[in-house]
Amino acid sequence: MTDCIFCKIAAGQIPCNKIYEDDELLAFHDIRPAARVHFLIIPKLHVASMLEVTEAHEALLGKMMLLVPKLAREHGLGDGFKTSINTGLAGGQEVFHLHIHVYGGGPVVK
Ligand code: AMP
Ligand code: ZN
Repeated sequence: MTDCIFCKIAAGQIPCNKIYEDDELLAFHDIRPAARVHFLIIPKLHVASMLEVTEAHEALLGKMMLLVPKLAREHGLGDGFKTSINTGLAGGQEVFHLHIHVYGGGPVVK
């Protein structure tokens, strides 16, 4: 996906404030934080949204979900946090590359 900003971030072509990376996933701070802590977890694989996931993505989605509490704890959110996955224009999605928002430690406005 040559036009996808998160694919470019995953490929290292656009910088990000990275907090985690492995062969399949990347996590980085949101550029417009909606809370004191606000980061995104993305698959390196381009999947446009939750409307495009299939059973082929089952393990990848599980891995993303398991990473949520690990990174949340590491960022001081051991007391709790909010997650969201905006899906489609009707769901408020702006970047059409699947991502989980994780935020907390302050006001959550999104
Ligand atoms: P949404 O697609 O509505 O779930 O939100 C996309 C999120 O990506 C927004 O919270 C943006 O602030 C964030 N975002 C967009 N571009 C970048 C970027 N280059 N680095 C970090 N976060 C970004
Ligand atoms: Zn992409």
